[in-house]
Amino acid sequence: MNNNPTVLEIDLSAIEHNLNFFRSKLHKATKVLAVVKASAYGSDPLILSNFLEQQHVDYFAVAYADEGITLRKAGIKTPILVLHPQINNLELLIEYNLEPNLYSKKIFLYFLDLANRLKLTAYPMHLKFNTGLNRLGFKSSDTDFLLEQLKNQDSVYLYSIFSHLVASEDCNEKEYSINQIKEFKSISDSLVSVLGYRPVMHMSNTSGIINYPEAHFDMVRLGLGLFGFTNDPKLNSNLKNVLSLKTVISQIHQVDIGESVGYNRGFISQKEMKTATLPIGHADGFFRSFGQGRASVEVNGQKAPIIGNVCMDMVMIDVSNIQCEEGDQVIIFDSQQDILDLANAASTISYEILTSFTNRIKRISI
Ligand SMILES: *Cc1c(COP(=O)(O)O)cnc(C)c1O
Repeated sequence: MNNNPTVLEIDLSAIEHNLNFFRSKLHKATKVLAVVKASAYGSDPLILSNFLEQQHVDYFAVAYADEGITLRKAGIKTPILVLHPQINNLELLIEYNLEPNLYSKKIFLYFLDLANRLKLTAYPMHLKFNTGLNRLGFKSSDTDFLLEQLKNQDSVYLYSIFSHLVASEDCNEKEYSINQIKEFKSISDSLVSVLGYRPVMHMSNTSGIINYPEAHFDMVRLGLGLFGFTNDPKLNSNLKNVLSLKTVISQIHQVDIGESVGYNRGFISQKEMKTATLPIGHADGFFRSFGQGRASVEVNGQKAPIIGNVCMDMVMIDVSNIQCEEGDQVIIFDSQQDILDLANAASTISYEILTSFTNRIKRISI
């Protein structure tokens, strides 16, 4: 039994709406890979991937093998690309029918050898090319090495080649992005001419889908957009908010002038006021940097600022001017703008807010 009353609601009809919005930007034949790494952006990996499988997405991607294993154990049948596999779990990855991104000579050679030893045939794998991010991937100058290794063997099959845009959301970096796209195309050309077939090509994340139609290629990798966010606030209004975080008031206090609230007397009352204590704190992913009035929540339709320091399991808010009682619902966020406001309050981005809520918070789909 989970005694924690704080709930993260996942609106599946909003996911469907957002998926269809992005699909409407693509050619009919372009495949959609849904990125469900990091517990599906902090939501719930199984709720999300079961729903997205019903929506016939073509592929899933996760960061690590264990994230893929969780999906397979729950019966997910859609192909799963593991973006950042580790050498020591490649065997497990094969056991669960997951598909590795091979990004370095070391892991590539290891996988080829393993596939050979296990007598696999045409096991699907993916190659990532580094066209500027300098994070993971082969250089264009590695293509000869790769082709040499791939010829005269049938244990693995190069299903896709991909790259990642450095600044797909930043239109000031358009020239850089266009050069990345060019380089990726030329890598693909040199591979295809020797391979004799064309692997699936993919390069675009959410903002790439919006900003670089020429980088859609055969498949796109959609992550944050599913949750209603693009880099363009105007476009966000075409999308629906998916995640809402709700809790309840645990206790209300009357606080006199000069009294303090919270640890280290982080707040000193300048007036007679009413405060409410909420059952969410920094151990739930409610950042301590939201404290001292930097963020607000909503109680009965009105904004209530955080006062003092956020505790591990609780936080106090100012409800002096709000009609409310113990047990009343508190909305921590229920719109994209609320989530962006929280991100601003903590000097971070929406991605970090979404992925921070810990598993003490219950997830439910609506
Ligand atoms: C996380 C990730 C994505 C998804 O990016 P969004 O901006 O959330 O759409 C796509 N590709 C790779 C390689 C990633 O790591």
